[in-house]
Amino acid sequence: MSGLQPFAPDGLERALCVVAHPDDMEYGASAAVSHWTSRGVDVSYLLLTHGEAGMPQEPNTVRRIRSEEQRSACRQVGVGDLRILDHPDGVLEPTLALRRDIARVIRQVRPQLVMTTTWADVAPWGLNQADHRVAGLTAVDAVAAAGNRWIFPELVDEEGLDPWSTRWVVVTGAAEPDHVIALEPQDAERAVASLQQHAAYLEALPDHPDPAEFIPAMLRGGGEGTDHGLGLPVRVFDLG
Ligand SMILES: [Zn+2]
Repeated sequence: MSGLQPFAPDGLERALCVVAHPDDMEYGASAAVSHWTSRGVDVSYLLLTHGEAGMPQEPNTVRRIRSEEQRSACRQVGVGDLRILDHPDGVLEPTLALRRDIARVIRQVRPQLVMTTTWADVAPWGLNQADHRVAGLTAVDAVAAAGNRWIFPELVDEEGLDPWSTRWVVVTGAAEPDHVIALEPQDAERAVASLQQHAAYLEALPDHPDPAEFIPAMLRGGGEGTDHGLGLPVRVFDLG
């Protein structure tokens, strides 16, 4: 994908990635996480659900499996801070409670950058799943709420969490990306390994493509013009 500006933010110390499910970070985005953590950036993941509706087994079993697989996936790309909320998988709603829950974590983590997934109804790969639409849109709304003392004032008054202004919102899977995060070969390798950690989940999807093939191919597709020919195209909003 040519003509994209490189995205290499100055002063990035902490990033927070907000997604709906275990595995949502592992379809390319975790390569960018690897790139950042290998440069000393602290990256936290916030999952809004345990992904308990994503496998044929009963939900309590699945939530344990998928949480553990996500923890392993995080280790592959240097993420030590994994937080999973208990919102319901498959029927996630863009409620104020969800927005507050995300804003709370933004104020706790105090990231310069929040990464989330596209909230478009149609994504480059097809129809965008309902939880993904909700997660992306509510995450960007939570960024605004986290910066405002008078939105969810109880976060200050009852929990002592001061407002926090995030500098960059980075959206993956956007139909019209405007930046590319340039990657190194090891980032692609770690991204493959991170998706492979979701072994039980992938096993339940018999037609799933091999991570070792499609992840590098996808990153090569996004990496035109970068040093190693590997990149993740993203839409960046610089909130100043
Ligand atoms: Zn998902």
